[in-house]
Amino acid sequence: MRILTFDIEDWFHIIQKYPDDILDRWGNYEVRIHNGMDRIFKILDEKDIRATFFILGYIARKHPEIVKRIHDLGYEVAAHSDMHKPAYRQGREEYKQDLTACINSLENITGEKVLSYRAPGFSIKKQNVWAFEVLNELGIKNDASIFPAIRDHGGFDDFAESRPAIIKYNGIYIKEFPMSVNSFFGKKFAVTGGGYFRFFPYRFMRKTIQNADYTMTYFHPRDFDPKQPMMNGLSLERKFKSYYNLSKSYTKLNQMVYDFNFIDMREANSLIDWDSAPVVDLSHYSDNK
Ligand SMILES: [Zn+2]
Repeated sequence: MRILTFDIEDWFHIIQKYPDDILDRWGNYEVRIHNGMDRIFKILDEKDIRATFFILGYIARKHPEIVKRIHDLGYEVAAHSDMHKPAYRQGREEYKQDLTACINSLENITGEKVLSYRAPGFSIKKQNVWAFEVLNELGIKNDASIFPAIRDHGGFDDFAESRPAIIKYNGIYIKEFPMSVNSFFGKKFAVTGGGYFRFFPYRFMRKTIQNADYTMTYFHPRDFDPKQPMMNGLSLERKFKSYYNLSKSYTKLNQMVYDFNFIDMREANSLIDWDSAPVVDLSHYSDNK
């Protein structure tokens, strides 16, 4: 099973500090999201495939036409938080308010209940598993926030599964579609999204996908916009991870969807035999508030 997903945000929504005037700062940046969106829409149309779109509430309010187009084309509209603040940097109330604002902004446009979610930067970790209770309260049934490896701004290294599973937490159940990771040289990496997607040559990615039963992906409009400016104040490592090989990523995405069949999370959900899916009980982390 191979699932295609996009996190819909602009080039400046890379995780960094969140000063009080963040909205003014964002408002001063050039809007570039359409460059990447046009290429994403083109590929899906040409290959006649569907994808799940995790969209910021911020983007829904600034560019409602993007959400409308995604929905009108029959693709899944899903939530990616309102302001792209890492979940683990928020208290429970703040987190709930932020996600509620996102969901409301999306539902106001589509008229349909949002059922799927991915935290910004895969930011549900051991320390904030209570987030699953909030997801449940807000009607989210399918989550894609778990990155079962070590990662800069998120990551749940000891999460037991790298395939669809049912998360059990204090009496609630949520279907989890974790990021797919592969082990190389004793370390776990994801090659179908982010910096490693750009870094590794396509033939390496193809082999990885071929050998896997389950592949999850995450791409952004900015991944396909090689002319975007470089964000100020990033470390050398962040710069490398965020911008290296940008010019090649659209070709790679094209090759990937040409070589393999991809589906969206809704279809994956209907194909999975959930009765025999692994159950991951996270209740023992519940002391972490
Ligand atoms: Zn994001």
